[in-house]
Amino acid sequence: MICKELLRRLRNDLPMPVAIGLLGRDGPPAKMSEGYFRFLCPRCGEMRATVNPRNNLAHCFCCKKNLNNIDLLMTLDYDFLSAVAVLERWLNQHQAQQANKKAPPSRS
Ligand SMILES: [Zn+2]
Repeated sequence: MICKELLRRLRNDLPMPVAIGLLGRDGPPAKMSEGYFRFLCPRCGEMRATVNPRNNLAHCFCCKKNLNNIDLLMTLDYDFLSAVAVLERWLNQHQAQQANKKAPPSRS
């Protein structure tokens, strides 16, 4: 049983550019353009899927579809449960890294 709170965190708290970076060669080609992170839309194949940093959703300006992290992995042939498992691991990894960055430098 997967709780709604976890799904919400996977959609909102793991930035899509981080998830796509972690997908590496399995993920869609991506680039920064005009301050926005864009990637190849898995639905229409145009480089027009653009991440909105405010809601962490990608919107494709070609086919008008919205994609979140879970949708993205499912277009890459992950089933729902493995998409959730992979994203949960990445989210924990990402948040651990963020916590490290914020920690004051140790002066041992
Ligand atoms: Zn599209």
